[in-house]
Amino acid sequence: MTNLATLLTTSAAKYTSDPAVILDDLRLSYGQLDDLSARGAALLTANGIRPGDRVALVLPNVPHMAVLYYAILRAGGIVVPLNPLLTPRELTYHFQDAGVSFVLAWEDMAQASQKAVEELDGVAVLPISAQGTVGHLMSVEPAAEVVEREDEDTAVLLYTSGTTGRPKGAELTHHNLHSNAEIAGELFDLRNGDVMFGGLPFFHVFGQTVALNGVVARGAAVSLLPRFHPVKALEILRRDHVNIFVGVPTMYVALLHELGKGELTTEGIDLRAGVSGGSAMPVEVMAKFEKVFDTSVYEGYGLSETSPIVCFNQPGNVRKPGSIGTVVRGAEIRIVDGDDNEVPTNEVGEIAVRGQYVMKRYWNKPEATEEAMRNGWFHTGDMGRKDEDGAIFIVDRKKDMILRGGYNVYPREIEEVVYQFPGVVEAAVVGVPSEKHGEEVGAVVVFESGVLESKGREALSQELDAFVQERVAKYKYPRIYRITDELPKGPTGKILKRELSLDA
Ligand code: AMP
Repeated sequence: MTNLATLLTTSAAKYTSDPAVILDDLRLSYGQLDDLSARGAALLTANGIRPGDRVALVLPNVPHMAVLYYAILRAGGIVVPLNPLLTPRELTYHFQDAGVSFVLAWEDMAQASQKAVEELDGVAVLPISAQGTVGHLMSVEPAAEVVEREDEDTAVLLYTSGTTGRPKGAELTHHNLHSNAEIAGELFDLRNGDVMFGGLPFFHVFGQTVALNGVVARGAAVSLLPRFHPVKALEILRRDHVNIFVGVPTMYVALLHELGKGELTTEGIDLRAGVSGGSAMPVEVMAKFEKVFDTSVYEGYGLSETSPIVCFNQPGNVRKPGSIGTVVRGAEIRIVDGDDNEVPTNEVGEIAVRGQYVMKRYWNKPEATEEAMRNGWFHTGDMGRKDEDGAIFIVDRKKDMILRGGYNVYPREIEEVVYQFPGVVEAAVVGVPSEKHGEEVGAVVVFESGVLESKGREALSQELDAFVQERVAKYKYPRIYRITDELPKGPTGKILKRELSLDA
């Protein structure tokens, strides 16, 4: 049986008094997390939650999030984790689409959920507060049993934009998530006594599988950071003796940028490893982080629909710079052309995945499911290639590809070059509509503080332009540059390319 809730009950039996979740002064041991979630399950059942009911969790990374996540699962419910920064309108869409009957929402953010349910029938909101809720739970008798669920029953409805359209709920089963948490624990060699960085939001698949379920599966601890900030992150890495840093590339960039200012150091921080995923890790950034933190960074790849990990640079294997590693045990990968035929080694095609981590389907979206799942393979919308050793390289997302004058330009390749230019902090390459070429290549770049001021915008753009022109073919290099202070980012820290506008 691979009921996801048993990750917690099993570890609680073994590691009862060891820390599971840390948020500043608050520490929940495995025994406490287990007890509170059993009480939460009883509370949900008393509120009419039955097996298969959808319960929304609208919380940042606070210990309550972990408690209630397992409480819903123990009661047999389906967790619908949502970003607490969503607006009432967006929340209404998600609540309605998922057909939730109950919403658990964090303190001051609960108002948005209250407003969101005004138009919906029969959906109740329970505001969760830092102190009050724990008191409330302690007055409830814990549920004795974990409600039984089948391996193929949905455990979590995880909303994702996928490759196209409005957010869709990926139905991840108990078996999907349980097995991916186990493989995560194994790949990172997570152990009891380890402390993982908890800055990736649990409402997103990466944080949820790695820093919540993966941590719990191995009896490790997670130090939470509800809102990522590099200064605060450095502080908790030191204070809580975090030894595994996990984040999206922009978090790595932010830490290095902060340290580059010269006021803070890595003294007292001792990382055994860094794990990166969610978007492409620039080779330059990885090398710099490894040097500054004296550690090794392992990059992985996956999607909400695949629970998420399907590729990983496994420690001990030869690491090829820029590669997302090889396919992990339990998954299969094929690189296919438009007709779903496998392409030859080293040729670019769409990455398709099969195996135990792939979602059951998109919730109530048969057409989207059919489009993504063809011949038993899930089509990721990512373009990549596989070399003779099985190492996989992501070339880019299908939809981010730029078509300039009949040639395909993959932004990732150009971004890698821009990152090599001295003083570059962040870069994004995007397509700009052009009459002449259909699309033109544009780059938006953020520099370390002081660089722009000392060189001047014009000279800096020209130098960068010359640098890139020397390194990539003529049809690919950006014809348009914009230097800015910051790139727009999504809730997990991924750069939001569609929000970058550039004029031709
Ligand atoms: P999400 O479902 O929000 O987790 O987004 C999944 C998408 O993130 C994938 O389809 C990829 O485009 C991207 N992604 C995840 N990991 C990587 C990686 N290591 N390198 C490049 N892109 C990645």
